[in-house]
Amino acid sequence: MSRLLVLLACSLSLVGQTVRKAPLRPKLIVALMIDQFRYDYLVKFRADYHEGLARLLDEGAVFTNAHHDFFPTVTAVGHTSLMTGASPSVSGIIGNEWYDRSTKLPVTSVSDENTQLVGGVPGAAGSSPRRLLVSTLSDELKMSGQASKVIGISIKDRSAILPAGHMADAAYWFDGDSNHFVTSTYYMKELPEWVKAANDNRPAAKYLGVSWFPFDAKPGDKAFCSMINGADVRYCGSFEATPFGNEMLEDLAERAIRNEKLGQHDGIDVLALSLSSNDYVGHALGPDSPEVRDISIRTDRLLGKLLDFIDAQAGKGNTLLVMSADHGVAPLPEVNQARNMPGGRLDAAALGRSINDALSSRFGQGQWLASDVGGTYYLDYDTAAKFKVRIEEAQNIAAAAARAFPHVARVYTKGQLLRGEVGPDWVSRAVALGFYEPRAADVIVVAEPYYIFAASGTSHSTPYIYDSHVPVIFYGTGIQPAVIYDRVAVTDIAPTLAALLGTEPPSGSSGKVLKEVLR
Ligand SMILES: [Zn+2]
Repeated sequence: MSRLLVLLACSLSLVGQTVRKAPLRPKLIVALMIDQFRYDYLVKFRADYHEGLARLLDEGAVFTNAHHDFFPTVTAVGHTSLMTGASPSVSGIIGNEWYDRSTKLPVTSVSDENTQLVGGVPGAAGSSPRRLLVSTLSDELKMSGQASKVIGISIKDRSAILPAGHMADAAYWFDGDSNHFVTSTYYMKELPEWVKAANDNRPAAKYLGVSWFPFDAKPGDKAFCSMINGADVRYCGSFEATPFGNEMLEDLAERAIRNEKLGQHDGIDVLALSLSSNDYVGHALGPDSPEVRDISIRTDRLLGKLLDFIDAQAGKGNTLLVMSADHGVAPLPEVNQARNMPGGRLDAAALGRSINDALSSRFGQGQWLASDVGGTYYLDYDTAAKFKVRIEEAQNIAAAAARAFPHVARVYTKGQLLRGEVGPDWVSRAVALGFYEPRAADVIVVAEPYYIFAASGTSHSTPYIYDSHVPVIFYGTGIQPAVIYDRVAVTDIAPTLAALLGTEPPSGSSGKVLKEVLR
């Protein structure tokens, strides 16, 4: 050691200074949601992951027991929780849609009559984050004065809009009516040239007439499905319900990174990407199908392609990726029944009719339900007024009728939830975390495990583990590789990113900082 270094070392120890390394700061945050991706897909198909997901699993901070701890576990709510850290009780995003008492109309989490689509069918109503009550992580970055660029991309409007937030530069989603990527006048008046170029390339057209074969198909193997109706295999339906939908999204993500120079300027950029096709495939065929296995393995490959592209474009070591899913999914009831497991189908309309019958026979014949949304029921307050029935009395009669319905596990009323009169267990807690009074239904039904409100295929929305247990993986700049077995919540992601970036946690965030991931 040279004398100078010895002197330096001595003087440092004399003044008792501790040298704290500056934290590693990413230039690009990629918030990746895979729509309907159960945690167990990481384990079951691990042997066939060699690219993107494999890299995340090998080099990331992997949480093996992460959950959505609210009800309902659906797309809009799951996507909101990712970057707001907020439960629906605070974010106001209580579902994909709900009944709006002020207009007496159903609304979606992002529908916005005051906006128009940009790039799609002229004049069509647009979407915006107007109903989201809280900030996202990227809103916090922008409010702190960072020169951040924030872009959301998905097939679904809600999945592009809600993780990106209020101050996002853009959200782009796929409009099936025009087969174009679109945005809304909330963000801009005209699509940027690079999105127009993607649309000029006719993103959907190249999948006309193609077939989806297994990733490891050998000559002579049958396709899973075909985009040609009447072929000798199943019709895929829409190309969104094949891995091709995800490929189209990944292509647009690459174009966004290249053209908007994400991660290549001052400020921390955010790309919120949601891969939707896994959800469409999973709904139709269930988690035990070979198609779900295949699209999961193809997602691994597609993510590898995206990670390579990001490294080449934004420079290695500049990106932090966090990956999760908005919800899991139940097995197909028929698959479960065949293996002696519980499960079945509930008819939401029939349940609604028995609620209406109970109210009619008690108080008078009428149309007692204003709306039903996936096992939640909104009473018609005009009917209640006509028969001079107190709303809470009507709620109680409706709840009793719902409780008598086969395979209903729990029924909660709005009155009960308002007063906090719901048991202390975790299912009740999930329902309470999903309760936002101004938008809430009067009667909320939770089915028995493995019973779903769907006439075909399968679904999700319950608090049970198969719907709630999802991957949470942090990967890249500033992240300490680890496997963490503690139970954590998806709402912990946003406050953890805020801690890492030195910014305020989003305004509704309830989660804790996952210290284990911080390098
Ligand atoms: Zn879904």
